[in-house]
Amino acid sequence: MITEYHRPDSIEELLSLVSRKSPRTIVLGGGLYINEIIKEPIAVADLQKLGMTAIMSKGNILQLGAAVTLQAMLDPDLIPAALKKAIKHQETYNRRQVATLAGSLVAANGRSAVGGVFLALDAELVFSKAKAKIEKVRLGDFLPVREDKLAGRVITEISIPAIVGVSYQYVARSPADLPIVGAAVAQWPSGRTRVVLIGYGDQPVMVLDGPEADGAVEAAKDAYSDADDQWASAAYRSDTAGILVKRCLEEIAENG
Ligand SMILES: Cc1cc2nc3c(=O)[nH]c(=O)nc-3n(C[C@H](O)[C@H](O)[C@H](O)COP(=O)(O)OP(=O)(O)OC[C@H]3O[C@@H](n4cnc5c(N)ncnc54)[C@H](O)[C@@H]3O)c2cc1C
Repeated sequence: MITEYHRPDSIEELLSLVSRKSPRTIVLGGGLYINEIIKEPIAVADLQKLGMTAIMSKGNILQLGAAVTLQAMLDPDLIPAALKKAIKHQETYNRRQVATLAGSLVAANGRSAVGGVFLALDAELVFSKAKAKIEKVRLGDFLPVREDKLAGRVITEISIPAIVGVSYQYVARSPADLPIVGAAVAQWPSGRTRVVLIGYGDQPVMVLDGPEADGAVEAAKDAYSDADDQWASAAYRSDTAGILVKRCLEEIAENG
């Protein structure tokens, strides 16, 4: 429940709001998660006046503002097709207009296709904190400790590598439903391969980050060998994870 609303004019003002001990104050992106999921009383600081909506290519890096909406990421040619597929899969048209990239990563659970693709791409989050300090943290290091990491900090930008092959494959009860099992694979020109599974648990899980793809299918099968819940058995998830990773690798190879 939102008890106080602020719309700061500067990043300094925003940081001083989110650094307050009381009332607990968090950043408001699109507000989807805050409005629907957070039940305790909180104050919010809206990003609206602060920009953070640019999508830029800088050398081999793609820099995305924290407040870019998921819908805005569907247009530019710069955005990998697999990421666009994950965005369309995760959120409906109306929700994509509102949901921000940073909000979607902070709120990512195990069934988050967008979180999974960003994790496969080894995304880097840029945080602003007091005294104009900047901190860079990999998404994989942030997700397990996200609540602690956000105290007194604001995500301003997210970076991903631009020249990487990437694929997202999933199975769900229906094409529009969230994944029961999903796989996101990124492969660098050097051969470096990162494999992420989606569909189970608190967050997407990285199962391989190696110099090549050897062992990727087996690593995926192993990682979901206990992934049992009301949606699917562990045996089904494990087999399917292996098949999806294989499909991802084939798609990346086909697209050169
Ligand atoms: C009913 C429902 C079901 C959902 N199911 C799923 C699901 O299955 N899988 C999944 O992954 N997600 C799910 N979500 C989350 C959904 O993807 C997010 O609600 C949405 O994409 C978040 O975007 P937002 O900009 O609206 O975030 P907000 O609601 O504005 O913020 C979400 C969180 O991120 C923080 N935050 C936002 N921007 C910043 C920033 N720049 N710096 C620091 N912190 C920031 C906020 O403080 C808040 O804690 C679900 C949400 C709802 C309401």
